Formats: sequence, C-alpha cells, structure tokens
Amino acid sequence: MAYETYYWSTSLMSKAIESQPDGEPLRAQIDHKLLCQVATDRDVAGKAEYYHALAQVAREQLARRWVETQHADRANKARRVYYLSMEFLIGRAMNNALSALDLREQAATVFTPPGPSLNEVMECEPDAALGNGGLGRLAACFLDSMATLGLPSWGYGVRYEYGMFAQSIVNGQQVEKPEAWVQDRSPWEFPRAGRHHTVHFGGSAEHSGDWAEWHPADSVEAKAFDHVIPGHGTDRVSTLRLWKAAAPSEIDLGAFNTGDYQRAAEFKNRFENISWVLYPNDSTSAGRELRLRQEYFFVSASMQDILSRHDDEYGSFDNLADKVAIHLNDTHPAIGVAELMRLLVDEHGLKWNAAWEQCRRIFSYTNHTLMPEALETWKVTLMQRVLPRHMLIIYRINHEFLDEVVRLYPGDIDLMRRVSLIDDGNGHEKDKRVRMAHLSIVGSHRINGVSQLHSDLMVQTIFADFARLYPERFHNKTNGVTPRRWLAQSNLGLSALLDERIGKEWRLDLDRLEGLRSVADDAAFGKAFAAAKRDNKLRLADYVAREVGVSLNPDSLFDVQVKRIHEYKRQLLNVLHVITRYNALLNGETAGVAPRSIIFAGKAASSYHMAKQVIRLINDVAAVVNNDPRTRDLLQVAFIPNYGVSVAELIMPAANLSEQISTAGTEASGTGNMKLSLNGALTIGTEDGANIEIRDQVGADNIFIFGNNTAQVAALRQTGYQPSELYQNDPVLKEALDKIDGGFFSPGERSRYHDVFNCLVHYGDHYLLLADYADYVATQARVDALYLTPAEWQRKAILNVAGMGTFSADRTIRDYADDTWKLQTLTNRGTAQ
Ligand SMILES: *Cc1c(COP(=O)(O)O)cnc(C)c1O
Repeated sequence: MAYETYYWSTSLMSKAIESQPDGEPLRAQIDHKLLCQVATDRDVAGKAEYYHALAQVAREQLARRWVETQHADRANKARRVYYLSMEFLIGRAMNNALSALDLREQAATVFTPPGPSLNEVMECEPDAALGNGGLGRLAACFLDSMATLGLPSWGYGVRYEYGMFAQSIVNGQQVEKPEAWVQDRSPWEFPRAGRHHTVHFGGSAEHSGDWAEWHPADSVEAKAFDHVIPGHGTDRVSTLRLWKAAAPSEIDLGAFNTGDYQRAAEFKNRFENISWVLYPNDSTSAGRELRLRQEYFFVSASMQDILSRHDDEYGSFDNLADKVAIHLNDTHPAIGVAELMRLLVDEHGLKWNAAWEQCRRIFSYTNHTLMPEALETWKVTLMQRVLPRHMLIIYRINHEFLDEVVRLYPGDIDLMRRVSLIDDGNGHEKDKRVRMAHLSIVGSHRINGVSQLHSDLMVQTIFADFARLYPERFHNKTNGVTPRRWLAQSNLGLSALLDERIGKEWRLDLDRLEGLRSVADDAAFGKAFAAAKRDNKLRLADYVAREVGVSLNPDSLFDVQVKRIHEYKRQLLNVLHVITRYNALLNGETAGVAPRSIIFAGKAASSYHMAKQVIRLINDVAAVVNNDPRTRDLLQVAFIPNYGVSVAELIMPAANLSEQISTAGTEASGTGNMKLSLNGALTIGTEDGANIEIRDQVGADNIFIFGNNTAQVAALRQTGYQPSELYQNDPVLKEALDKIDGGFFSPGERSRYHDVFNCLVHYGDHYLLLADYADYVATQARVDALYLTPAEWQRKAILNVAGMGTFSADRTIRDYADDTWKLQTLTNRGTAQ
C-alpha cells in the first residue's frame, strides 16, 4: 500500500512544517494562540490555558484538512458512506490529533520544566464520553479507520449536553454525577451556523396513494456541530456531525407575557431536552418516549443533510443509491428507513416503488446483540402518536414484505407472524409493537454480526427466518480497534520497542506485527518487552495509589477485568475466584501461587440493581482482602472508578491477564479483549465472541480458554441446570458463596448480599457462573504456574501481540468498504490508492 511508505517519508514531515502558517515553529504558534484565543501569555498561563492554545493550533490545521477533503470529494463526485450511531465514545482528542498532524514530538519539546509537561497539558481535556461502552467505542475506532483509509465518510450522531455519567465510589458504592463534557464550548468542535434542519413530531397524517400529508404538532431545530476526525498517514479527514436540539427559530419567546420567563424557559426546554442526555444504559433497550424522540431527531436531521448534499451535487435523486451508503450501527437509527422513504416520497415526489428500490440499496445494518432484552421494539401506540406518518410507512413496508413472504411460503401463517415488522401482541391492540431489527433487515441489503460466532448464531437463532428468506444479505464483519490510540499513543514503551524491531509501519499495517514471531524466543527482546510492561504497571500503580488508596506491587500479576458491569459479563465469577483464592491463602495453600493484583473497573447502569450490587461487593471484598496482613503480599484487589476511554488507555498497557469470561453465546464480539491482547496481556476467557478468533490467531497454547461452550450452555439449560447441586457438592465453592451470603464481607449489614447469593444458588443462575466455576479456578492455577516462569510468560505475551494484526479496525473497515459499502479509498488529490 502506497500510504505506508508515504506516512514516514520526509515529504510528509516537510509538509507538516509547511502547513504551519508562515512556517512558524510550534512554540511561536502556541504563543500566538495564547494571546489571541486565550488572551494571556506564557508568564501567567497555566496548563489549562496551554491546553486551549495547543488545541487551537491543531484546530487550525484540522480545519485546513477538512476544507481540502470536502473539496476533493465534491470534485470527485465521490460515493460516500454515512455511519449513523446513537453513540460515539471518543475520549480525548488532543494526543490523537497531534499524532495525526505529526506534531506530537515537537509538542513534547515545547512543554518542558518549569512549565507543565505535555502530558499534564493533555490531561486538562475532558473525555468526550458520548457513549456507554463497546458499541460507542467501536464507532469511534471506525471513524479513525475511515479517515485513515481515505474513505469519503461521515459519522452522524447526537450532541449530548451530558454524556456518560462520571462514576465515583463512596462507601463502596457507585455514585453517579452528570458530566457536561463541552462545558462552554470544546476547541474540537466547529458549530455550523448555516447548517440546520427542522424535525417534526406528532400530529396526524393523511394518506392519498403513495403520498401522504403530515400535519405535525411540534417542530424542533437540529443544529450541526462538526468534529474533524484526522486520518493517520494521510491529509484526509472524516467528519463527525453531531446534532443539537434547539427551539425552532420562528418561535418568538417575546410572545410570552412580559416577565413570564419561567414559562418561556420551560417552553424552550421542552424542545432542547431532546439532546440533553445520553441514556446511560448498556445492553438493554430504553423503551421511553424521549429516547424515541432522540433517535428520530438525529436520524431525520442526518437524512435531510444527506439529501441536501446530494441535491446540491446532482439536482436529482435518481442516482442516490449510486452515491450514498448509509450504515445503521445497531437498530437505534433504524427509523431512518422510514424517514428516507418519507423524504423521497412526500417531500421530493418520488414514486413509492422507485424510492423503495433505492432504499434497499442504500442501507446496511450491524446487529450487536442476541439478547432478547436488548432487541429494540416500540409500542405501536407510541410510534403512532410521536411519528404518525412513519407508522403508515412501516405498515406499508410490512404489507409488501409479507406479500413477498406469502409468495415464497404460501400458507405459512406462523412464519408471517414471526417475521412481521409488527409484533401483534397476541391480538391486544395496546401490546402491538414495532420490531426495529426487522425493519432494519427488510430495509437493508447487507446485515452483519460482529464476530464469526455471533454472526453464525445470529442466522441460526434470532434471524433464522430472515436468513432463509434472504441468505445473500447475511455476513460477518469481526470488530477491530484502532492501533493508533490503543497502542501507538497509549503504550509508548512497547511502541518504541516495536519500531526498533519491525519498523514503524505497523501503525498503518498491523499485520506487520507478525514480524514479532521470530523474536518471541529472543531473550534480550523478552527482557525489554517485560521492562516496558513493568513501566506501564508502575504508571498504573501510581494512579491507583492516588485515586483508590491501594498500593499495588508492580511485580505481581496484574489481572484485569475492565468493561461495563453486566451479569452476562460475569464480574461475579471473577469475585468468586478472588474469594476462593483468599480462602486458600488463609488455609496456608501458598505453593505455586503467584502474587496477584486483581483490578476491576466499569460502570453500572443507574437502574441496574444487580450490577450495582456487584460493584459494592467488589469494594467490600477489596476492603477485607487488602487489609489482611496474612494475605497482603499475595493478593490485592482494586476497583478503579470512572472507567472510560482515558482510564482504559492507562489500564490496557499495564495488564498481564485479560479477563474475558462472559457466558458462551452472550458477548457479541468484545473489543476490550483485542486492546488488551494487543498490549501484551494473555487472555483467560470463554469460547465467546471474538475470543475464539483471538485463539485462532495467537494459538491455543498462548491463551487460557475454559468453561462451557455455546452448545454445552444450550444443552445445560435444556436438561435442567441445577446450580444448588453444584453449591452443595463443591465445598470450595460453597465456602466462597457462604462467605458472601453470611455477611463476611459486609459485617455491618450481614444480609447485604442475600439477593446476590439467591440469584446464583436458588434462582437459576441464568448466566451459569457455577457451571464454569471449577474449570475457571483450575485454569487460574495454570495462569499462576506460567507467571512463575517469566521467560515462558513473556514468550506467550509476545506471541499474543504478534497475532493481533487482523484485529485492526482498518481491516474491519476495509472489509465493509469492499463488501458492504462498495467504496473507493481516496487521497486529497483524488487518486485511488
Ligand atoms: C473498549 C472499551 C469498551 C468495550 O469493552 P468490552 O470488554 O469489549 O466490553 C468499553 N468501554 C470503554 C471505555 C472501552 O475503551
């Protein structure tokens, strides 16, 4: 690939310097921005002022790249992909921007004592946490890869005023507080004053043939705010356009009685609340009216934006599907199918059939979960009230779709009921629901899962009927992560080592990591690899000492489970192992035990009682274990608060062991597993999601796989799984569970974990923790044995890094571009690479 050599060529270096106005050195540019953007100077500036000045320098160069990219795409009449997602979990922008602009090294030399360091300056930036977890982070990694591969691409989402809540731990419990990530304004966003669309809600709709007249009751203005997403090794950028809700401009607040500010403010809030806050829920469907309004709000604004761009360029919609690909990240934007139909038919006068033809070529859809509680549906009565015109459109799409089904499978009423876009609620009008996944499938030409296992299960279980109807639509696109943020920027030690051994090109061609296989047995390299890991562990230990007040031994095995807290992810199984290990140590069973620091991080949805109990239990266990002088040298437990992108960037490089222990068949892919392995952690995991593909890549000898697989899980459930028998018959398990139930870790409130205990032992243990417990504990003992032979451990860790090439998001996005979006990669000069 041409751009690999291009990236590191001196021509780009000189271009970076050239692109600084008047060729001024970075220091002078920062001084200039300090003066004219921050109104201060170097004598008095603190790190926050420096942060803003440096961001302004980057902003100016990003703006230039944005203008050039747009110009090129217009001139090329480019086909574009639009990636619609309710969530983009971006994290901080500065480090990534400096790297992409090739300013990082220069910046490090500008920030020297006695002033703040570059790191201190960069830490002033709040995380842009416009997402919950994996799904939102995936969208952010994808934007990075789309820009880097030069794809003409846009992300579209919601500009939440309040993103993911900030988590603190008070008396062992999660406390949530709102976090306004933009505060006044972010230096990374470009408000587009001229770019706004009106979005309507409610009212009534009247049919006349293809066409309908919608008399909405309310309207709200969607205002565009752009984030420029830089590509690496290219001047091309991608755009993330986020929509903020505002009261429509024609509403005259002065029309309220003079002095009635209260009512005027309430009125304004009624409109603006649509984009106020992210639903802080992971893996569960929200089901609330405001959520439906949020979804439609950003989808409608995005569709109008896409059509207006196309109209500007072509003045006709006949070639829309040739130029536009729209991707649905889960079903949250699925109403887009109906909205595109509405715009094309009602607003732009296309015939229904012609519009539908285009629609089916334009959309593609990624499913992210097989869990029934996460499959999005909306009550027909609610949809009718909020979006009456869309309800008519959905009925018509359904009618025509079911006609097609009848032709293929005459008389199969049961099939029709199963695949219908409407769940008929067993005939009860008020229980009828719109199935957003079915709408997405019927309206898309390609549908994918996010790991091989997930995609296979998808067509065998929830979408089996559709796979029979449209086999050619279903395929797999295993997730990936960007190696820029998750290795090059967050793990400088390992990156330098890689540069030395295999060259720098791995940043853009992660398959180069294969080159490590030949040094896996090299003792000197192993030592350097271990030293880099130890530095990262020291850095994390420092942070944990400061933030949590627990001092971790940097030579202990750092055993890490960091992800949203959810029953299916089984943090509780990890806790059972911690307690088991503690009990064994108290019994004097210390032979073959490696010193361990067991690290947890993750947020629980605010309404998710069991997840919050798990957080509290982890902290209660940590308090007991960490304060026991008999075990302290061999076992430490830490819960790191406020897990998010920046905290992850600190944890991933420091991990020795990656816990990926979900019940087989529940984790769609996982991406935390990829980041950890990429940073040289060994995985202990189940045969779930992408763990299976990680095993294929790193080799079965270099990963710890345990527990029941998907087929065994299904068989267990079918034959009548009895967790209480496992509890009664395994004394080691029983001791651990009894300690939880008996209040050993909650002496002030002995019954605190009664419900946790009951859930496992008496109420069915839905995620089969007890079924996997014995194998998990035995496998953890094998982990210890390996850790106590450091050279062997190091070798396997190196082989993990070596096998991670395929988990670059660049590979994933190239697959989407070739196979789903049919997109060409471009440079700013418009030549295909
Ligand atoms: C990668 C990532 C996730 C996803 O982690 P999983 O282990 O795949 O669930 C969630 N949150 C953040 C902040 C991440 O960086």
